[in-house]
Amino acid sequence: MLIDTYGRVATDLRVSLTDRCNLRCTYCMPEEGLQWLAKPDLLTDDEIVRLIDIAVTSLGIEEVRFTGGEPLLRPGLVGIVERVAALEPRPQMSLTTNGIGLKRTAAALKKAGLDRVNVSLDTLRPDVFKTLTRRDRLKDVLAGLEAAHDAGLTPVKINSVLMPGLNADEAPDLLAWAVEQDYELRFIEQMPLDAQHGWTREGMVTAGDILASLRTRFELTPEGSDERGSAPAERWIVDGGPHRVGVIASVTRPFCGACDRTRLTADGQIRNCLFAREETSLRAALRSDAPDEEIARIWRLAMWGKKAGSGLDDPSFLQPDRPMSAIGG
Ligand code: SAM
Ligand code: SF4
Repeated sequence: MLIDTYGRVATDLRVSLTDRCNLRCTYCMPEEGLQWLAKPDLLTDDEIVRLIDIAVTSLGIEEVRFTGGEPLLRPGLVGIVERVAALEPRPQMSLTTNGIGLKRTAAALKKAGLDRVNVSLDTLRPDVFKTLTRRDRLKDVLAGLEAAHDAGLTPVKINSVLMPGLNADEAPDLLAWAVEQDYELRFIEQMPLDAQHGWTREGMVTAGDILASLRTRFELTPEGSDERGSAPAERWIVDGGPHRVGVIASVTRPFCGACDRTRLTADGQIRNCLFAREETSLRAALRSDAPDEEIARIWRLAMWGKKAGSGLDDPSFLQPDRPMSAIGG
């Protein structure tokens, strides 16, 4: 098991497949992009599958989520999914993506064994999409979403980040659209994980703001608190059901006490928290021919040291050196 000193057990593994992306969301990376990881530093497909194998057979991982950067940019993605689906025990598998390219790959991903997708979409207005992501690709995202739904990668979840002055007024429109399309919408509070270090607490849209805005058009009933479990999203029943809406309030209502995550970066580092300032290299062990037991031991040790919380409320909080796109969101 991957247990820490506070008794939390990690069963959910986030695997970043690349730090590259074809969008430039303003809350994530600068217009010019970032200094991407060098190819030799990236884990190979074989190395990734080996680590996931160790995670499910020896470390109690039950769920694997592929992310990035943009995971659909990883050429070997379908093959990785297929090989992970063949592992014993087989983990649940999902993908967090911006949706561009999903139209082409959704059916193949489903066939390979992917269970679900989360597609990030912050606005339905083409001009706002272009300003927010610095690319004119809204149509591609919508086509990708439809393909994912048709392929049975369901329930399709939508992740939305709201930004003041850009799309903060769009929460009710996004929810009306998601309900109509049968997508499950979750709003994510903007976190200090952007490469530009531009985040401020005063400049973010809070869970409270989002709920107040939604309530101008919908009746929201809290889902029982026992149903949140380790899931980061608090959920509300929309207009009596059956649809739900979630809010991931990492900043204003943190859920660190119930966190069940462990993260693997595209260059083979274990992070025990999104906000951790330290990482543990598994790549070094992998490439020095360490046996599975040794890799599992290093991974356990990395998780054992997980801090009680993100430290966001601590005046001495320092943003991690890596941005969200390089950690794997
Ligand atoms: N490119 C893929 C995507 O956008 O879905 C996967 C990686 S992205 C880093 C994963 C999620 O993190 C997305 O839903 C994105 O909106 C969210 N995200 C990125 N930067 C964020 C930030 N500073 N605060 C909150 N969420 C953020
Ligand atoms: Fe790319 Fe996802 Fe970051 Fe947007 S949030 S720039 S899609 S990695």
